[in-house]
Amino acid sequence: MKRIYLDHAATTPVDYRVVEAMLPCFHEVFGNPSSVHAIGQEARRIVEGVRSKIASFLAAKIEEIIFTSGGTESDNTAIKGVAQAMKDRGNHIITSSIEHHAVLETCKYLEKHGFHVTYLKNDKAGLVDPDEVRRAITGKTILISIMHANNEIGTIEPIAEIGKIARQRGIFFHTDAVQTFGHLPIDVNELHVDLLSASAHKLCGPKGVGILYVREGTKMVPFMHGGEQEGGRRASTHNVPGIVGLGKAVELAKETMGEEAEKLTSLRDKMIRGILEGIDDSVLNGHPVKRLPNNINVSLGYIEGEAIIMYLDREGIACATGSACTSASMEPSHVLAAIGLTHDFAHGSLRLTMGRATSEEDIVYVLKVLPVIADKLRSISPLYKKGR
Ligand code: PLP
Repeated sequence: MKRIYLDHAATTPVDYRVVEAMLPCFHEVFGNPSSVHAIGQEARRIVEGVRSKIASFLAAKIEEIIFTSGGTESDNTAIKGVAQAMKDRGNHIITSSIEHHAVLETCKYLEKHGFHVTYLKNDKAGLVDPDEVRRAITGKTILISIMHANNEIGTIEPIAEIGKIARQRGIFFHTDAVQTFGHLPIDVNELHVDLLSASAHKLCGPKGVGILYVREGTKMVPFMHGGEQEGGRRASTHNVPGIVGLGKAVELAKETMGEEAEKLTSLRDKMIRGILEGIDDSVLNGHPVKRLPNNINVSLGYIEGEAIIMYLDREGIACATGSACTSASMEPSHVLAAIGLTHDFAHGSLRLTMGRATSEEDIVYVLKVLPVIADKLRSISPLYKKGR
């Protein structure tokens, strides 16, 4: 059976060129970059080369890039690290209701340790209003953390505007850019961010490696204690193959990002149009325009998203309902609840996220199969009959 992978927001296949770049780091360039001998120093040179490449990709300074184990660690480090370093100045943090759990759970943890967190309401499209951010700031606000783009509904937030407000008020600003890094252009100065999280496995790189950008002068207590790696800001022996894989993924993204975004935007809009026109009681979740080029999130009213993805899986199509990270639970995701979807629509959500290899043919196939599945499920759905 032909398999169509439409769950790139959860993770992406590693590009074979990334694998090729990583291979020598397991056996040939295997040294510890902290060792003083030539074998170690060769590994160090390679790690520093990647750091410099990533810094230039983000318009950052080389020493502002810290290698981490991925998005979750970067988010935890940024938020807990700044909170702890700034606790004598204040204990208030501002975030939004649709952040990834890596941010929300970190904030909840801090609430148990004396911090006060404001969870801003997002509008129906998932957008944070910069004026709401301005109004939420108090004399005790030490950090604002708003994601660059949402992993479920794809909405792209007004980060540059929020960053300007944070800068004017002298408050540190973090953005979780896990879904945009390598997909949309990012200039940390244009966005006015002080901290930015990214993860390799969302851009055809390996799992278990990411970065945290930390602007020079940002006060942050290290999260990992141990050796002196990363200038004492993140202990542990460098994951050299992972870092090299991330570097190669960034190099490939830099070359193809613009063209890919254009292609995916056109496929995305074709898929959205096809679903909304071809299936009754279907709605688009997230913003129609300010959205990730690869993200389609729709709700098919009166049917269970879980059932839709199981039927699609049988047809060879892999996708998600709500967030892949929360799909083990039967509750509608916190994101769909936050944008005010009614129960009947929140439960019928479907997230299709495209990638480098997605073709027009794949979209045509989904548009052929999905309406048939929706009809079949509705014919046995008591909710559907009641809702009509
Ligand atoms: N932040 C966002 C927006 C994500 O989508 C994810 C992963 O799905 C993460 C953070 C966590 O990243 P990682 O899997 O690298 O820990």
